[in-house]
Amino acid sequence: MSDCLFCKIAAGEIPAKTIYEDDDVIAFHDIHPAAPVHFLLVPKTHLDSLAHAQTQHQPLLGKMMLLTSKLAAEQGLSDGYRTIINTGHGGGQTFFHLHMHIIGGKTLSTNIS
Ligand code: C5P
Repeated sequence: MSDCLFCKIAAGEIPAKTIYEDDDVIAFHDIHPAAPVHFLLVPKTHLDSLAHAQTQHQPLLGKMMLLTSKLAAEQGLSDGYRTIINTGHGGGQTFFHLHMHIIGGKTLSTNIS
């Protein structure tokens, strides 16, 4: 999508503090970190949200899930981390290109509301 910020970051048209990239995904530090470590894992293909994923996206979503532990370890999150996917306005999503937050580096509240 031509006006999608995360598509532009994935295409290298807008700079980001990238920590990982391959043909399918890009991961970069969030510009407004909610914790000492906060990065986003974003598929390069445009999906508005998790609710827009289809059966054919299953390998991509699985890859993203499995990548979180590798990237979290590389970012020093040896004590654990939180993954969040906000979905839709009601789910707190503000950028409508699917992305997973990976957050850690401090003791996180058990309250996930
Ligand atoms: O899940 P949600 O859509 O609310 O999260 C969007 C996230 O994208 C925010 O945490 C925001 O700080 C981040 N962001 C970013 N780089 C941008 C624009 C937004 O890391 N250029």
